[in-house]
Amino acid sequence: MPTLTLHPGRDKSLRNRHPWVFSGAVARVDRSARDGDVVEVHAADGRWLARGYLNRRSQIQVRLLTWDPDEAIDGGFWRRRLERALAGRAALAADGRTTAYRLVHAESDGLPGLVVDRYGDWLAVQALTLGIEQVKPLIAALLAELCRPAGIVERSDVDVREKEGLPPHVGVLHGRAPAGPVEVLEHGLRFWVDLMAGQKTGFYLDQRENRRRVAAYCAGGEVLNAFSYTGGFAVYALAAGARRVVNLDSSAEALALAERNLALNGFDPAAQAEAVAGDVFTVLREWRAAGRRFDAVVLDPPKFAHTQAQVERAARAYKDINLLAMQLLRPGGVLATFSCSGLVSADLFQKIVFAAAVDAGRDAQVLERLSQGPDHPVLLTFPEGEYLKGLLCRVW
Ligand code: SAH
Repeated sequence: MPTLTLHPGRDKSLRNRHPWVFSGAVARVDRSARDGDVVEVHAADGRWLARGYLNRRSQIQVRLLTWDPDEAIDGGFWRRRLERALAGRAALAADGRTTAYRLVHAESDGLPGLVVDRYGDWLAVQALTLGIEQVKPLIAALLAELCRPAGIVERSDVDVREKEGLPPHVGVLHGRAPAGPVEVLEHGLRFWVDLMAGQKTGFYLDQRENRRRVAAYCAGGEVLNAFSYTGGFAVYALAAGARRVVNLDSSAEALALAERNLALNGFDPAAQAEAVAGDVFTVLREWRAAGRRFDAVVLDPPKFAHTQAQVERAARAYKDINLLAMQLLRPGGVLATFSCSGLVSADLFQKIVFAAAVDAGRDAQVLERLSQGPDHPVLLTFPEGEYLKGLLCRVW
């Protein structure tokens, strides 16, 4: 097996089982090593540290797979890791009321670069790295055997693949593609998910627990669901007794599916909901000027910061929408505000929401701090895996 040797003093994070080796830490790589293949990672003094797959095109040159010198990266390895990830989700699916959840959360499940989501009888896979791209057929065969799905689709149409030198790809890895949107359950609520063309792998599974917790504050009220996508928070809010919901999103396709999701759960989209296609920054300004008010506002924007250089601009954008949302809230109303930018820490996010409250001249109390659901676990050795943060605030 080819060897990769680190610079002196660059082995600490590996000893702490952090799964990434950055290019700056690498002193040399054997000539025989090919990108995508497994390499042995050695400290500068020659001591064996760990084993992982290589890609010199990426800033992250190695993603580590094992710290056990006796553990080979073979079929048995991938099977054991998949079985462990599946076992970790068993409790989530036990009552049969939730059929959509993340089965494999990449690094956090010891499977760097691999995401697998379950949607009822179907699986959706993302191969984010060259190392995973190379074992994709094996992973698909193991998933087929372990999960017995009707089909496994691939949704590797993500920008991060560029950094690995890979083109985007969408296709079918096993069985057949679903004929249209697939019906799934979350806490007994029903949703249509478009695996082939929806955002991400079709649904924002990381918000499942938050949808339920936010809904508990929506009974009797009028709820603005900003960045609604297919209406997840709206369906939960109505199920919890909200009087009316407004779904606001820039995507007409997402709003169309949101209407179908409301109807699927027995709600009347005409009487109990409103769908508004538009830009949140613009529409909230218009409504503020027009004196429109709500009892609860959900702000679940897309990732605003993709690089460190974008964090400052992202912070301004978060502050802008949070200020607007607070100004649209009736006194005593509830704001559920999220950031899925990993580069914006929970601490920074709280400071941004604080600044918005000060500018709005409103008292905001944190009632709950929210994070990603338990099917998106955070490995203690890989804090980067924690990306979603939210504050549930009462605003006076
Ligand atoms: N809350 C949703 C997920 C939101 S994902 C859920 O629970 O499923 C973010 C959404 O924001 C996407 O649907 C995207 O279409 C939308 N979006 C992105 N930028 C926007 C903008 N400026 N104005 C309105 N919607 C926007």
